[in-house]
Amino acid sequence: MTDEAAEARQQSGLAARLSAIDERIADAARRADRDPAEITRIVVTKFHPASLVTELQALGVREVGENRQQELSAKQAELAALDLRWHFIGQGQTNKAAAIRRSADVVHSVDRSRLADALHRAAVDDGLLDVLVQVNLTDDAGRGGVAPAEARALAEHVLTLPSLRLRGVMAVAPLDEEPASAFARLRDIAEEIRTVEPSATWISAGMTGDFVEAVAAGATHLRIGSAITGPRPDRG
Ligand SMILES: *Cc1c(COP(=O)(O)O)cnc(C)c1O
Repeated sequence: MTDEAAEARQQSGLAARLSAIDERIADAARRADRDPAEITRIVVTKFHPASLVTELQALGVREVGENRQQELSAKQAELAALDLRWHFIGQGQTNKAAAIRRSADVVHSVDRSRLADALHRAAVDDGLLDVLVQVNLTDDAGRGGVAPAEARALAEHVLTLPSLRLRGVMAVAPLDEEPASAFARLRDIAEEIRTVEPSATWISAGMTGDFVEAVAAGATHLRIGSAITGPRPDRG
């Protein structure tokens, strides 16, 4: 096969996977009595080259997600001319907050006050950064996210920082629990935070293996990687 033919075949595979996932999202939404249009599908492109993001963008994808600051910054800089919204979904280091803020349109993974403070200090002019409070739904305190009991206090702290716009909550389902029950807890936390800030309506939940359950539990933002991109190149 010529390189061009190989590339064309790879692109049509990508297009097919993307539309298959979108159909499954729409089905899941209808079964949950929800409007598919209220659900944002973010394509997680971590470990894949910037060229894959370009292909996705040509297929109409606008929302893309990355979980490492360096990779986010490199791809965002390379593709700055494209109409894309960059979602940072990985663990954020305080000393990388300025770099994260420069490259990301949305930070899903605010899990402690110090990170929120650092993102706020990195504000430029009157720019606003959309952020979500990441909640740890596992029993392992070492996993990313604030403990459920502390989510509201963290949200209240974010609300004191005028350059951050609190949008809602984010979580990853634990491996050892039915995703539906974990996402139900997340929905309760989201509701609690909405009593403090009614505009914080986003629930970022659901990946390749559990987005149907996430849609049923009210997720507004799905973070889907491998089901769309294919397997990730071996790296970390
Ligand atoms: C990698 C990643 C995803 C996407 O995972 P897939 O299983 O490939 O869909 C979603 N959320 C986070 C936080 C991730 O790191």
